[in-house]
Amino acid sequence: APVVGVLAMQGDVREHLAALRACGAEAVLVRRPAELAAVDGIVLPGGESTAIDRLLTAFGMREPLREALAGGLPAYGSCAGMILLADRVADAAPGQRTLGGLDVLVRRNAFGRQVVSWEEDLAVTGVEGGPVRAVFIRAPWVEEAGDGVEVLARVGSGPAAGRIVAVRHENLLATSFHPEITGDPRVHRAFVRMVAARKRGAAPSGFQTAHA
Ligand code: GLN
Repeated sequence: APVVGVLAMQGDVREHLAALRACGAEAVLVRRPAELAAVDGIVLPGGESTAIDRLLTAFGMREPLREALAGGLPAYGSCAGMILLADRVADAAPGQRTLGGLDVLVRRNAFGRQVVSWEEDLAVTGVEGGPVRAVFIRAPWVEEAGDGVEVLARVGSGPAAGRIVAVRHENLLATSFHPEITGDPRVHRAFVRMVAARKRGAAPSGFQTAHA
């Protein structure tokens, strides 16, 4: 089974470990460069992107993680994790940095600051078996996506209707919502398939092309 790390600086680390294990991956915590070097893919959890940003520096993880992502390490970011993967952030905190790699502009706290800011069943390209219950918690949305970025889901109704909330580009996957808290492992399963494909040496293919 592929070894998938969960970046354990801050955020809902345990929920991601459980979701990854539910889809057959070997899931491990990643806090140090040596732990990062041992994984085939990594999840950047939801939480608070500014706190994770500061801890990445404190743990000496910022550069190793940036390099690993630039080298093609598959990564899945949910919510704060999406912010960390984004090249550009609107409404960033003063001095806040991201790891980058994903050619998108995300807007932080785009849905508002209530605990559960929005909740909806969403069809997500690349996730089979019907809609995914998407729970948005002080979530970002993707305001602009670069040419190579595959849009996997948009909000269907309400004030944020049409906003992009799931994207993929090559080995990077990101969702504004938190599939790790609903007990539905299908988004994680799609990510584990990306990790397994890279481990086999397959070139990254988009979900649309893979499932056409
Ligand atoms: N608003 C948080 C941030 O900016 C993200 C919230 C979440 O991950 N649920 O990092």
